[in-house]
Amino acid sequence: MDKLKKYKTLYNDIKKAKIKGLGPKTTQRLYSLNIKTIKDLLYYFPRTYEDRRNVKEIQNIKPDDYAVVKGEVIQKSLNYTRNGNMFKILLSDQTSIMEVIWFRMPYLKGQIHEGDIITVIGKVKQKRKLQMINPEFSLGERDLNIGEILPVYGLTKGLNQKSLQKILKNTLKEYGEYLYEILPKEIIKKYKLIDRFKSIENIHFPKDAKSLEDAKRRLTVEELLVLEMGILKDRFKLEYNNEKKYELEDKKKKVKMFLDKLNFELTGAQKRVITEIHKDLNSGRISNRLLQGDVGSGKTVVAIVILIYMVENGYQGAFMAPTGILAEQHFISMVDVLRGIGIKVEILTGNVIGQKREEILNRTKQGDIDILVGTHALIEDNVKFSNLGYIIIDEQHRFGVEQRQKLREKGIIANLLVMSATPIPRSLALSIYGDLDISIIDEMPPGRKSVKTKWIKAKKDIKKTYNFIDKKLGEGRQAYIVAPLIEDSEKVDLKSVKEIYEKLQKSKFKKYNIELLHGQQKSDKKNQIMSDFKIGKTDILVSTVVIEVGVNVANASVMVILDAHRFGLAQLHQLRGRVGRGKHQSYCFLISNTDNENSQARLEIMEKTTDGFEIAQEDLKLRKPGEILGTRQSGISDLNFTDITRDVKTIKMVRDEVIGYLKAKKGNIDNEILEEELRVIEEAKKGDHL
Ligand code: ADP
Ligand code: MG
Repeated sequence: MDKLKKYKTLYNDIKKAKIKGLGPKTTQRLYSLNIKTIKDLLYYFPRTYEDRRNVKEIQNIKPDDYAVVKGEVIQKSLNYTRNGNMFKILLSDQTSIMEVIWFRMPYLKGQIHEGDIITVIGKVKQKRKLQMINPEFSLGERDLNIGEILPVYGLTKGLNQKSLQKILKNTLKEYGEYLYEILPKEIIKKYKLIDRFKSIENIHFPKDAKSLEDAKRRLTVEELLVLEMGILKDRFKLEYNNEKKYELEDKKKKVKMFLDKLNFELTGAQKRVITEIHKDLNSGRISNRLLQGDVGSGKTVVAIVILIYMVENGYQGAFMAPTGILAEQHFISMVDVLRGIGIKVEILTGNVIGQKREEILNRTKQGDIDILVGTHALIEDNVKFSNLGYIIIDEQHRFGVEQRQKLREKGIIANLLVMSATPIPRSLALSIYGDLDISIIDEMPPGRKSVKTKWIKAKKDIKKTYNFIDKKLGEGRQAYIVAPLIEDSEKVDLKSVKEIYEKLQKSKFKKYNIELLHGQQKSDKKNQIMSDFKIGKTDILVSTVVIEVGVNVANASVMVILDAHRFGLAQLHQLRGRVGRGKHQSYCFLISNTDNENSQARLEIMEKTTDGFEIAQEDLKLRKPGEILGTRQSGISDLNFTDITRDVKTIKMVRDEVIGYLKAKKGNIDNEILEEELRVIEEAKKGDHL
């Protein structure tokens, strides 16, 4: 059998494996732990370890220590208690005395006698004396694995540590030799890593602290390398197989015209980011960038400048937004200026139908449209461009990784800019968006006042809040009121937008124009409502989270979020980002009487800071990264050894190594085992989407 074939046996179902101690019942139990293949089993890592190496002196034991103690039985007794019988001994090792108790094992009375030398292993508690309950014990020769470090695994009903330990020992014996190396030799050498088999052996049955450390270090690098290789390999293939490079004449006249027409000056950060992208575009390689900038930092104008530049140099551009509302808003905000400088821009959403749609599709195909704005409808199969050169994906976190993948699968090779306000720490961004370079807008347009945020708990304060809103509306400002539900529900006690809408119309607010917006309305209706709000016809917009991202109405200065505890930090930050976009002091009121500590912590963070990056850091402390990014696909949830907030350096190191490797090999991986590994992971992900 060749190497690859042997390696593939590791992907056999454990049902087919020949492993001593693994019968049909145990197989079922392992399935329930998500262990399906031999490789899953070998990669089922211990949660922790029991150190049975040194016999500890009783005087040196601290409460909650896990200890091996050897001593003489100086007293024994069998007592009957409410909880059944209890066999108790006093154990002395010259240094001190410890109490050892076994419940419901009366027969021990006949086995353990005063004067015997006994070894016990277990966790020590501090009661009146030091105490061990139901420990494993040995009189004389019985094997307690003393001198070993034993793995402790996550278990399921019917499966115990001892049998799983045995199964792993046998699996290693039977199949360990097939764990061929997947790390490039150079990396192993450079970072002095142990080999793959050794690391798996050591992680299960370490000889000492150092061998465990070595195993962890190697496995951290391995899992990161597999993750980054998976993310990056396609990009390099793309680059090296792509004959049609973008050759630009670097014309900039229209960009200048556009900038002259803007009624503001770009911030330093915006200029820097534009320069970064411009450099990419003229480097002869495909530009793949993530543009991160807090809500309101002015990402849109950066995107438009780049689109104009590409159009002027002969290419079409696509601008994708996650919702129809947002696509419409982008379109409206750019259409006049762009047409003014001779650029043809159109919008395509699910809403554009019939003849109009046909016409747009045709013109796009013929290259008669320069920039097409729209929703994900833009990447549907029937949309064909004649010369697509640049794609913007706005609010990337709403689209997810899949859409990007879809573009790639369709063979669309174009420069890509994904924009996101979901502020994630750079380390995390690198590992998830590993195939993208990152640009950051870390500066707000001048003159913005930070949004004053208050968490409102008491009823009387709610009343005051509404009085305050009344005052602001009286001054000509507009307000958003957001609630979690569309309609009242009997199941949960949460506010709904319909209820609020009706109440407001019967209150002192009836003198204002109030509108209702939610996801179940037709897109036409939604667009109408949004544009009415935008031009100031509506004073109060009662809305669900459909306004969460991107919506830009500078005169709106009040954001009220009802049942604010129902929203996550990133979402609250996005919602708050709808105000504070103009020259007026803005306010955000988080209304909630939650007594959940985690929710309270979120609301306190919102009161404390408006800095998106700080909020992201706090969010990471409250939640797991996988939760934040909703990411089976990102691969983050598969990381066992890496702590993405702690191991920033290792992540960067591995990423750089992977890039270096792929560059040197022109995007090819010359290790068939690693290739197989990546293929299996990709298969599994596809399965997840079904
Ligand atoms: P986001 O980054 O959240 O997408 P937008 O692109 O919607 O933010 O910009 C928010 C607002 O800031 C818009 O009204 C935009 O016109 C304005 N803006 C953008 N850049 C600047 C700037 N350099 N100076 C002043 N206002 C700006
Ligand atoms: Mg935006």
